[in-house]
Amino acid sequence: MEALLTLEQAQAEVLARARPLEAERVLVAGAAGRVVAESAAALVDLPPFAASAMDGFAVRSDDVPGTLAIVGESAAGRPAESGPGAGEAVAISTGAVVPRGADAVVPVEDVVQIDNTIRVDTPVTPGRNVRRRGGDIAAGDVVVAAGSRVAAAQVGALAAAGVAELACARRPRVVVVATGSELVPPGSELRPGQIYEANGVMLAAALAVTGAVVEVAPTVADDEAAHREALAAGLAADVLVTSGGVSVGTHDLVRRVERELEVEEIFWRVAIKPGKPVSFGVRGGTLVFGLPGNPVSALVGCELFVKPALRALQGLVDPAPRFEPGKLMSPLQRNEARDDFVRARSRTGTDEVLLEPLGGQESHMIARAAAADALVHVPRGRGELGAGAAVAWLPLDTP
Ligand code: AMP
Ligand code: MG
Repeated sequence: MEALLTLEQAQAEVLARARPLEAERVLVAGAAGRVVAESAAALVDLPPFAASAMDGFAVRSDDVPGTLAIVGESAAGRPAESGPGAGEAVAISTGAVVPRGADAVVPVEDVVQIDNTIRVDTPVTPGRNVRRRGGDIAAGDVVVAAGSRVAAAQVGALAAAGVAELACARRPRVVVVATGSELVPPGSELRPGQIYEANGVMLAAALAVTGAVVEVAPTVADDEAAHREALAAGLAADVLVTSGGVSVGTHDLVRRVERELEVEEIFWRVAIKPGKPVSFGVRGGTLVFGLPGNPVSALVGCELFVKPALRALQGLVDPAPRFEPGKLMSPLQRNEARDDFVRARSRTGTDEVLLEPLGGQESHMIARAAAADALVHVPRGRGELGAGAAVAWLPLDTP
């Protein structure tokens, strides 16, 4: 039997073909979750002016200690008309312009105010409690670099720097096709031999997290004409994801029909467990993933192959699954031939993440997998990983 592709080889084949989609302009206010296509630069210095870091009095540092006359006020958004002259102070609030002439701010807690004068007993160094203009970032500097995902802090930084819109990769369009004559949607009654369709909706949920626009096509029966129609329509998307029908059964039609539709198959079967029969191909600009029908296999294949591709299509700088270090709480048998991805629950230990493998590791046991938030990587090989072993694990549901 031919050797299976390793996980690393298969992932490399996928990522080599997942090129960033074209960019479009996006409002910063709605950009959370998007990936930046062109580095966004600050339009202004930040802060845009020398600003007070405290509520207090803007002074000339040379005048302090001493008694100073209050000659005006600088409030946030309402700068003082003029600055303090010698022996004078200007009342100031946090974020207000430090008026010309002043070079320091004395906090209100450090002054004794008597009528229209303040007494300051301790010296103040120049620049004290003054936020320098451009101290955060200078106009023209990059606020958020190309290839990074926009989250709350990036939205805040872009807005603060005066950026109203920016270039982000277009959101990939994904069509999910679940195949299987046994599938009926939840909400209807099961007839003999039927099961509820789970993968289509599950994959849609998993992929939406990455920023993709996902459409779940109607379920497809195990007949060639139905496959041809559904897959041909799905191939108009950026990414076509099927579930089921990629094994060696007589009713497994996905790969054959895709071949007819001129999908170039790049690989079929990878040395992983679960998810071995996964297939990957391309047609034109469309990436085509065939995930196995067993729901846990589909979930794992989605995390290991489809989500990385969707990240790469959006130009994310580091699209591969991000495994993290953790500590295994109970032993796991290794598989000699395949890398195993064991569903587990993560828990925060004293200074490490602890991973408790769940019972029920068969690839049809999606209900057991629903208790998991982690996939523990058990590298192929002999023997077992003992309790306490250092392992790499993948958080489920990361974008
Ligand atoms: P297949 O890969 O088509 O041979 O399917 C493998 C197993 O997964 C079978 O037990 C199918 O009934 C089941 N299965 C296939 N597709 C789905 C689906 N969309 N939802 C739930 N189970 C499925
Ligand atoms: Mg099937």
